[in-house]
Amino acid sequence: MNLEQELNEITGRMCGKNIAACTNAQLYNGVLQLVKKKMAAVPAITGDKKVYYISMEFLIGKLLSNNLINLGLYEELSSVLEENGKHLSDIEEEEPEPSLGNGGLGRLAACFLDSIATLGLPGDGIGLNYHFGLFRQVFEERLQKAEKNSWIEDYSWLNKTGTSFEVAFGDKKVTSVLYDIDVVGYQNGVNKLHLFDIRSVDESLVKEDITFDKTAVDKNLTLFLYPDDSDEAGNLLRIYQEYFMVSNAAQLILKEQKEKGNDLHALNEHVAIQINDTHPTMFIPELIRILTEQEGFSMEEAIQVVSRTCAYTNHTILAEALEKWPLAYIEKVVPQLVPIIRELNDRVAVKYKDPKVQIIDKDKKVHMAHIDIHYGYSVNGVAAIHTDILKESELNHFYKLYPEKFNNKTNGITFRRWLLSCNRELSAFLDQTIGEGYKKDAAELEKLLEKKEDQAVLDRIYEIKQEKKRELVSYIREKEGITLDPGSIFDIQVKRLHEYKRQQMNALYIIHKYLEIKGGRKPSAPITFIFGAKAAPAYVIAQDIIHLILVLSQIVNNDPEVSPYMKVVMVENYNVSYAEKLIPACDISEQISLASKEASGTGNMKFMLNGAVTLGTSDGANVEIHQLVGDDNIYMFGEKSDAVIAHYAKADYVSKDYYEKSPVIREAVDFIIGRQALAVGHKENLERLHKELLNKDWFMTLLDLEDYIRVKDQAFADYEDKQKWKKMMLVNIAKAGFFSSDRTIAEYNRDIWKL
Ligand SMILES: *Cc1c(COP(=O)(O)O)cnc(C)c1O
Repeated sequence: MNLEQELNEITGRMCGKNIAACTNAQLYNGVLQLVKKKMAAVPAITGDKKVYYISMEFLIGKLLSNNLINLGLYEELSSVLEENGKHLSDIEEEEPEPSLGNGGLGRLAACFLDSIATLGLPGDGIGLNYHFGLFRQVFEERLQKAEKNSWIEDYSWLNKTGTSFEVAFGDKKVTSVLYDIDVVGYQNGVNKLHLFDIRSVDESLVKEDITFDKTAVDKNLTLFLYPDDSDEAGNLLRIYQEYFMVSNAAQLILKEQKEKGNDLHALNEHVAIQINDTHPTMFIPELIRILTEQEGFSMEEAIQVVSRTCAYTNHTILAEALEKWPLAYIEKVVPQLVPIIRELNDRVAVKYKDPKVQIIDKDKKVHMAHIDIHYGYSVNGVAAIHTDILKESELNHFYKLYPEKFNNKTNGITFRRWLLSCNRELSAFLDQTIGEGYKKDAAELEKLLEKKEDQAVLDRIYEIKQEKKRELVSYIREKEGITLDPGSIFDIQVKRLHEYKRQQMNALYIIHKYLEIKGGRKPSAPITFIFGAKAAPAYVIAQDIIHLILVLSQIVNNDPEVSPYMKVVMVENYNVSYAEKLIPACDISEQISLASKEASGTGNMKFMLNGAVTLGTSDGANVEIHQLVGDDNIYMFGEKSDAVIAHYAKADYVSKDYYEKSPVIREAVDFIIGRQALAVGHKENLERLHKELLNKDWFMTLLDLEDYIRVKDQAFADYEDKQKWKKMMLVNIAKAGFFSSDRTIAEYNRDIWKL
């Protein structure tokens, strides 16, 4: 049977129609079945040693297009559909996006699974099957509202397995159900993403918005990712989720190892466990507990074996993001782990006196990262500057104890999704221009540098950008009801909303530009400012920043004097699918976090790969992008991380000083509570944000604002020199090869997993 016959056979069976007669939704279900069947026929990746990547988040995005590309079926299926009057792009629109992650950390886990399979390494992901995932964002009255996001339909990528475990909590026992999603490598075999659910899950607990009874753990455990953790019940639920995940992980791993006949006493020879941030940390005491209670290990040996098997990735230096659970909470949820945690703590306390390296602190809080560092064999940061900061300041006390454990693994992105799938025009052009080798060896993108003086190549790269901008314009017109000018500069900042990422600084620039235009200073080219960001529901200032951006959008777009020169849009419900449309259409990539605060960033890499030029601070992977492309192909500004860290150490940053010194800053900041803003916005939100900027500004927006304005104006002016800009685009694409997650995973394997 050829592909067309196969698909006709499936749709006939599913809905009694042939391809041409199906609706797009019916056809999506048919194609899903077809692709699942093809994936089931691909051999599993096997080997002596296997990695398990444990993560609370896997922001996998839609899977259809990616799986088709990796299976080598994209072109063929696309033409089968065309011959039947259908379009693959319309079919893709039918797929719901699983929202199993917040942002970068979860997206990284998804890119890693793709690269692990593509490199042919045996490695599975382990996480949770959240029914409503992260919330869906809608805007009402220029405020974010959170709704549940049901992504699981009758037909989905999930395969129910027969695997099931008992997980005991202090006050109840639950039974798990395991669902698997196949992860097919690019021209390679298949690994699994294992997502655990509870058998007794009850979706009807959630009514209107995203509120629910947080105490009914046996029904709610897998409903949401990161439920509101601003109260005790939310915190406890989070611990229930974490323990449920790691207990299932430990049971699954031991089961697989026993089935293979491997000796558990030599576990580290067969298994590497990567702990993605501190959320899965309880895996360590849980595995020790199982080995001692059920497998006859002495405590000493269990600790030895586990310590040689587990490796930890640190993703942040933000103090509030480093998990510290009150021992009393852990006692309530999983009392069986408390003696183990105490034992781990006591062993540390005997050896080291420094209070900064203890597991349980004087307030009886458990520092999860400290468990990972003492009882794991590797600690890695996610970009060069981030790892340096860990070694030299944040984790310096640990670095002095275990210098050999620390290593850097600069993040990466899978080029299958972030180039081949989201920008088929550019990837087809690269195929013609430099050959297809870059798909397996991303370093080959550098061949493009030889074409730097080739006018036809430069023109085509620019033309593709214009095509992607036009596509985005029609998508945004349909989704947001705003019409944009594809001839304008597309300046884009999309990422989770957080003060350290400084969307508020971008907003202040927009105010500044608005006032300039009102004063008669028109920009050389029209500019479109695009934002996309979800804010944690309990994060008040983040909600206020969204509000400000939506207020500015209203003011700017409706001002006939200004709107021919600039537009502002904040897209609703930014997610992976939206990213795939926004990123190929971007001219200027906003990466403006306060130096030292963004561990790596991966959005910056996606933009660069698609020919956007970075406007950024010396933070995270921006530093490495800067090194690769050189001063002439990037716009850097702002204080360096050393200076920022010194400001924190001396507590000498006073935002009001900057406000008082600079009329430009004052004018922009005061606009937030000016007549025009208050006419469209809510007083409470705007006043609170204004006050925050003046009296606190913990992430030093005003410190960098003037430099930001200067450099951003320069970037906009340079855009007018088309020849110069095209060359910058080319260099950015050519140098992006380093940021392939294939490179990152090859390094993890070489230095940590040794599969
Ligand atoms: C890549 C990605 C992120 C991470 O973006 P940063 O700019 O690195 O914070 C967040 N959300 C989505 C949907 C992404 O695709």
